[in-house]
Amino acid sequence: MRVYTCTNCSNTLYFENSKCLHCDHPVGFDPATLTMITLKPQAADPALFTHSSDDSKIYKYCSNAEHGVCNWLLPAEDTSGFCVACAMNRVIPDLDNGINLLRWKNIEVAKHRLIYSLLRLKLPFEIVAEEKTESLLFQFMADTPSGEKVMTGHDNGIITINVAEADEAERAKNKYDLGERYRTLLGHFRHESGHFYWDMLIRDKPALKKYRQLFGDERQDYSAALTTYYENGAPADWNQRFISPYATAHPWEDWAETWAHYLHMMDTLETAWSFGIRIDPVELDKTSGIRASILKEPYGITDFNKLVNRWLPLCFAVNSLNRSMGHPDFYPFVISPPAIEKLQFIHKLCQPGLRA
Ligand SMILES: [Zn+2]
Ligand SMILES: [Zn+2]
Ligand SMILES: [Zn+2]
Repeated sequence: MRVYTCTNCSNTLYFENSKCLHCDHPVGFDPATLTMITLKPQAADPALFTHSSDDSKIYKYCSNAEHGVCNWLLPAEDTSGFCVACAMNRVIPDLDNGINLLRWKNIEVAKHRLIYSLLRLKLPFEIVAEEKTESLLFQFMADTPSGEKVMTGHDNGIITINVAEADEAERAKNKYDLGERYRTLLGHFRHESGHFYWDMLIRDKPALKKYRQLFGDERQDYSAALTTYYENGAPADWNQRFISPYATAHPWEDWAETWAHYLHMMDTLETAWSFGIRIDPVELDKTSGIRASILKEPYGITDFNKLVNRWLPLCFAVNSLNRSMGHPDFYPFVISPPAIEKLQFIHKLCQPGLRA
């Protein structure tokens, strides 16, 4: 994610801001140009805005702005009412239950960041096959009072998130119960989107052969594999071949976990690049392996090794900063050479020119 500034007063803005806290102008994110825009309200219609420095473009906010869960913009003439990210919602939480608005807000923050990454990678949101179209859609649902459980997961393009995962305490409990070192809403979105993009980039595609060499044969019984995983856990040597323990459950989960890490890596490297971050430890020899200058925009780098050579020092530095504050590690993983090979395969598939 880039660092954005207000075009009216140059104050820095977060991606989620809908107002500049310095000059008070409304701001919003334009998904067409992937930029934050400072807005000027139109005198004739308070729902319409112009770009603060270009009167020719007229915008309105996504309809979900009225709930405070979206700051994305649409051209004034758009009739759908929802931005590209919110148009993918099929089910939203029941807002009659007061706590659900906060949960939904947390969910939308994570979802919008996922959609930003997918737009950044120029990945389509639809798989058009001969007879049907599979679209990326979302449903945010709660367990029913009668005890019917909602499973977070992916099915034919539809990503379901159990809204309870938007509660910090509930998510922390699941994290410890499942022995996970990293569990976030953004991580859920990135992981589940991986299943959709497996359907798009691998299923029935030439890449399937190489996928099976790297990740294994996905035709093995999925539910039996998951049952075995939840009974026995990951093999002791999982970190020599996999990016996370859960990746050992089945080749589809290995792909989705690795996909999530690929998105973690690209987005965080873009943030580091946007801030001009250099890792240059003052007291270490010039040949030490933890130097990196993140001076090139990562989405423009085709050589995956160059990304890894920036990512590893960055993780070591930010993990150290977190430890200085008593926080857990920012990236609590060690990436083995086979996991790097899997990430590299995904990077290649995400290069628009190389997509099969
Ligand atoms: Zn401002
Ligand atoms: Zn929206
Ligand atoms: Zn999965």
